[in-house]
Amino acid sequence: MQVGGYAGKILRVNLTDSSFHVEPLPSEWVREYVGGDGFAARMLFSELKPRIDPLGEDNKLIIATGPVTGTLWPMSGRTVFVSKAPLTGIWGESHVGGFLGPELKYAGYDLLVVEGRSDEPVYISIEDSDLELMKAAELWGLKTNEATAAIKGRHSDPDTQVAAIGPAGERLVRFASVIVNNARAAGRTGMGAVLGSKKVKAIAVRGHKALEVSDHDEFVRLAKAAHKRVRENGQAREMHKWGTWILTSVKQTIGELPTYNHRTGVFDGWEKLSGEYIRPRYTISDRACFGCSLGCKKVNYVREGPYAGTFGEGPEYEGLMSFGSLLGIADFPTALKANQLCNGLGLDMISTGATIAFAIEAFENGAIDESIADGMKLEWGNSEQALRLLEMIAKKEGIGKLLAEGSRAAAKSIGHGSDKYAIHVKGLEMSGQDGRTHRSIGLSHATAARGADHLRSLVTVDQLGYQEVAAKRWGRDKLPEIVDPYTEKYKAAAVVETENVYCIRDSMIVCWYSVSWPPIFWLDDFAQVLPVVTGVDSLGSTDELHKIAERQVTLKRLFNAREGIDRKDDRLPTRFTEEPMPEGPGRGQRVNLEPMLNDYYKLRGWNLKNGLPTDETLQRLSLEWTRTGVRRE
Ligand code: SF4
Repeated sequence: MQVGGYAGKILRVNLTDSSFHVEPLPSEWVREYVGGDGFAARMLFSELKPRIDPLGEDNKLIIATGPVTGTLWPMSGRTVFVSKAPLTGIWGESHVGGFLGPELKYAGYDLLVVEGRSDEPVYISIEDSDLELMKAAELWGLKTNEATAAIKGRHSDPDTQVAAIGPAGERLVRFASVIVNNARAAGRTGMGAVLGSKKVKAIAVRGHKALEVSDHDEFVRLAKAAHKRVRENGQAREMHKWGTWILTSVKQTIGELPTYNHRTGVFDGWEKLSGEYIRPRYTISDRACFGCSLGCKKVNYVREGPYAGTFGEGPEYEGLMSFGSLLGIADFPTALKANQLCNGLGLDMISTGATIAFAIEAFENGAIDESIADGMKLEWGNSEQALRLLEMIAKKEGIGKLLAEGSRAAAKSIGHGSDKYAIHVKGLEMSGQDGRTHRSIGLSHATAARGADHLRSLVTVDQLGYQEVAAKRWGRDKLPEIVDPYTEKYKAAAVVETENVYCIRDSMIVCWYSVSWPPIFWLDDFAQVLPVVTGVDSLGSTDELHKIAERQVTLKRLFNAREGIDRKDDRLPTRFTEEPMPEGPGRGQRVNLEPMLNDYYKLRGWNLKNGLPTDETLQRLSLEWTRTGVRRE
């Protein structure tokens, strides 16, 4: 059965024997998982053996699209890269905007699965049914922008989308990224290292096929109304103007701007990292991903100073924070230069900045000395040094070799109590939030499948919409405690609610900003459009969408359980649980995780003792098939 919105095909590339296979997309997956992230979870759990080496031949990398990818629905240009993550050894995923996903659908494929390992560097070329593995020895060693330009030159079609890795991915830096068309990063968890381990320099995609939705006229009506809603949304207009840098002042105001390796949540130099400061001085144009009427992307240019001439799209708030307040640097040109270097070399900007912050604090406390730090005195606020460390990580030179393994592994090698300064969850470096001033964030970071995840569930005090939904579900009398960022009460309810909505967002796949801060679209909107696109009536029920989301969250948990993850791993760094916030609006706050974990497991139907799904939950979610090989004492 052909389901509307989908191309109906999975494309597999086996690098070991240089073959391509096309197979039908199982239509029941749409009913059970919707698409995107959900499809990838279904496939990765079934096809990967537990405990394999993420950088070995047996790992697979999936690029997944959803039912609205490439359609008229707003913000539907996003794609997800999924694999067992080199940085964490567990579930890994990284979402990216731009135009890659739509192009893959137009070529006729909903999922691309990269398997095996090539003996020599190649790039994967997909143009409709023309599928080729192209030799790429002369591209190996190039920066992502150089490789992208060379590949685009060969294909001579400007609409060819190129996802490339840089030298960091080739050298298997554990947090290497994949960069799409020079600007958009599938940054987190090391997807670039997976491609590097398979000797794949890039994936080039161009398609010319049409997509069909189940009810064309109704879909066009809903999509037009949805675009109007984006254009008329006040928060969307603000986001268009200031980009994600709008978050800097919000975070500073609530005392949650990660500063000096998360030691505090307020930063003296915050104003120079705010949208209000940056836009008039550095922004030269606005950009948008495929089908987006919000357009949060900013192209920036530095006219003077040591980084004069630096030019590029980005960084987002997270990257700005990582090479800004986190390192004690109040200078946008430094962050733009770091962004340009990270994109060219193929590094995740968040993990790179966070790992450098770890090294500085470890140095400050005597765990690292100058002999380890290649003669440098590691210090806060030193732009030149931070950029030098960034390049050393990408090249795995000197201390860069140690840091290229990520902060958790580096701390393990260094010893001397340095693990205290490695601010990560399950190996993934913490992004730009702080559970002390925001308990729901703390719970979300501790429980998210890929580690300290800023995109899995982000219940902020501003998200009154979600709190209204939570109040409706769990009682209006609970609202004061639900909206109180400093209490653990009811935070699990709020996290479960948003995590479910975000799951459907990432299965459709639509942009993060369409459902958050505050939401433009709600689960009801998705329930309205999904049957119209797919023709699958059951997707019109919000209860069913919640159940699908629960299934996905639980399936990822089971994937991680096979790798040894359970309640003992749902931890936050002691910085958040033992060190009270030293200053700012959240002064004195710290996270008490245990009661929130108990509430979260109860709501998810997971065992309180080990945090793993119960038999009853597996049955309710039709996941009994996962039983083999899952450790569930
Ligand atoms: S809001 Fe920003 S990230 Fe999201 S689709 Fe639009 S331009 Fe891309």
